[in-house]
Amino acid sequence: MLPIEPVLQVRGLSKSFGANTVLRGIDLAVPRGKVVALIGPSGSGKTTILRSLNGLELPDAGSVTVGAQSSSAAAGPGSGGGSGVVPELPALTLDFNDASVPKKVRAKEVAALRDRSAMVFQHYNLFPHMTVLQNVIEGPVQVQKRPRAQVVAEAESLLARVGLADKRDAHPFELSGGQQQRVGIVRALALKPQLLLFDEPTSALDPELVDDVLAVIKELAEEGWTMVIVTHELAFARQTADEVVFMDGGVVVERGPASQVLRNPQEERTQAFVRRLL
Ligand code: ADP
Repeated sequence: MLPIEPVLQVRGLSKSFGANTVLRGIDLAVPRGKVVALIGPSGSGKTTILRSLNGLELPDAGSVTVGAQSSSAAAGPGSGGGSGVVPELPALTLDFNDASVPKKVRAKEVAALRDRSAMVFQHYNLFPHMTVLQNVIEGPVQVQKRPRAQVVAEAESLLARVGLADKRDAHPFELSGGQQQRVGIVRALALKPQLLLFDEPTSALDPELVDDVLAVIKELAEEGWTMVIVTHELAFARQTADEVVFMDGGVVVERGPASQVLRNPQEERTQAFVRRLL
C-alpha cells in the first residue's frame, strides 16, 4: 500500500506582530482524509496558524504546502480531498523563507492557496447584503470562474444536505447563528478545497445551536475531508479528530492521537489545560 500522502505540510512557521512573537517554528502535517484539532489557551497562536494556511496572514518564515505531493497519490483511487468528490490539485508550496519573492508573485501564490484551502470563520463572515445562495456561489463563480448553473446546482444540493434548502433566498440576518454557520460551511465546501479550515466554528453560538453545527463537521470528517479545526470543544475533538495538537506560547507543546493527548497528556501544561476544559 502507498503511504498516506500529506495534504498539508507546514514547516518552521514563524510570525511576529511587531515585538510580539506569535508563532515560533511550527511544524504540522495532515494526511489525506485526516482531521487535526488545534487546541490551547487563548493567544497561543492557533488562529494565526489557520490564517497563514489561507493566506490571510503572511508568515515571516517557514513554508506551507497544500495539495497532492506525488503523482502516484494524485492518480490513486479515492484520493480526492473529500471522498473522491474533490479532484486533487498538484502541491503548491509557499516558501516564506525567501524574502525576495515579489509582491505580485506572492499575491498569485496566495490566490492559488485559497483555491486549495477554505476557511470557516468563528463569526461566519457572510456578506450581509447577499442571499444565502449568493453567499455560497460568490467564490466559485467570481473567483474560480466556474459555470454559474453548475455552481448553483451544487450549492442547492449542499444547502439541502445541511437542512437549509428553504433558506436559499434568505439573508443572513434572517437566520440563527447555527444556520449562518451551516451556510459558512457550505460556502467553504462549494469551493471544493483540498483542505477545510475551521476557526472555533461554534464558539460564537448559543449552547443549544452548537450540536447541529458539530454534527455537520463530524459528518464531513467521516466522509473523508481533510480538516484542521481550532476548537475549545474538547469532547468534540476527542470524537472527531485523528490527531490533537496542543499549543502554548507559539510552540507545539504536545501532539498525538486524540485519545492520548486528551485522556492521558504527558506534558504538565497540557494536563492543566485539558483538566480545566474536559
Ligand atoms: P489563539 O487563536 O490561540 O487565541 P491568535 O493566533 O489569535 O491566538 O493570537 C496570537 C497572538 O497574536 C495574540 O497575542 C494576538 O493578540 C496576536 N495577534 C493576532 N493577530 C494579530 C494582528 N493582526 N495584529 C497584532 N497582533 C495580533
